[in-house]
Amino acid sequence: MKFNIGFIGLGHMGLPMANNLLKSDVINNLYVFDLAVDPVKKLTDLGAVAAKDLIEIAENCDIIFTMLQTGQQVKEVCLKPNGLFNNCKENLLYIDCSSIDVDNCKALHAAAQEKNIKMLDAPVSGGVKGAAAASLTIMVGGDASVFNQALVILEKIGKNIIHAGKPGTGQVAKICNNMILGISMIAVSEAFNLAEKLELDPQNLFKIVSKGSGECWSLTKYCPYPGILEDVPSSHDYKPGFTSQMMLKDLNLSQDAANSASVTTPMGALARKLYADFTTKNPDIDFSAIINHIR
Ligand code: NAD
Repeated sequence: MKFNIGFIGLGHMGLPMANNLLKSDVINNLYVFDLAVDPVKKLTDLGAVAAKDLIEIAENCDIIFTMLQTGQQVKEVCLKPNGLFNNCKENLLYIDCSSIDVDNCKALHAAAQEKNIKMLDAPVSGGVKGAAAASLTIMVGGDASVFNQALVILEKIGKNIIHAGKPGTGQVAKICNNMILGISMIAVSEAFNLAEKLELDPQNLFKIVSKGSGECWSLTKYCPYPGILEDVPSSHDYKPGFTSQMMLKDLNLSQDAANSASVTTPMGALARKLYADFTTKNPDIDFSAIINHIR
């Protein structure tokens, strides 16, 4: 089956994701919208339709994606009078792939339900490379029946697509994953700094721990010590990758959620503090450069 699909937010992630939808066999027309002109032009050159405003997307599309920075932006696009929810077709399937706070996400689900819009929160992991390769991990919150309906579309942009549970739980999965990532990157960085000081060759630390119980993704897939893994930011002057300010954004989201649910996450809080200090001077460097900050 083919659909008219809308895509709003054509930034680092949204542009390649929209491009993969455009190339897929589920597209009738892809309507695109962004405040920036360049990414819209890139996609219209490839065959997408540039929507003049959100109403044009809302009126023409069966399925609409958003890939924006913040919960506030997503709320505005969805809820304002000339936004998506007030102007969409009946039975719209709306999928928000942005990483946003759980409270705003739940409020959006409630607003969607009132208008009989089927909504999924579907934040992603895998970065710009994963977006380009259509190999993203997608964590999806929302009704199982809506998830099953969306699967055929989500398979065009991702590889591991997992139903997390009820509305909002996609965002919960995302902030938990990135809280683990932030903490583990700091732990691995501390271990390299300590080993180096105590005259253990970093290459040997890597060999040993990657076969030991300290093994983790931050070590074996994204090692922060330069020159150990070839294709990672630490071996290329910490060029991102995933910037420290994006890590800080996600650690802020997990701490906000923890406070709002009265859950204690002491390591998450400390990781947030370390990344906040680091990011003040280094917002655009890869987050694995935290190894230099704590040295
Ligand atoms: P980005 O800043 O590159 O892109 C956001 C886009 O949204 C921009 O092109 C901007 O012009 C557009 N935009 C903002 N407000 C708009 C509006 N009202 N109407 C239309 N367009 C609007 O961000 P990104 O890196 O693509 O990230 C998007 C989301 O994905 C974020 O929530 C981020 O946390 C998450 N994420 C990013 C990465 C990554 O590696 N970049 C990885 C996983 C998840």
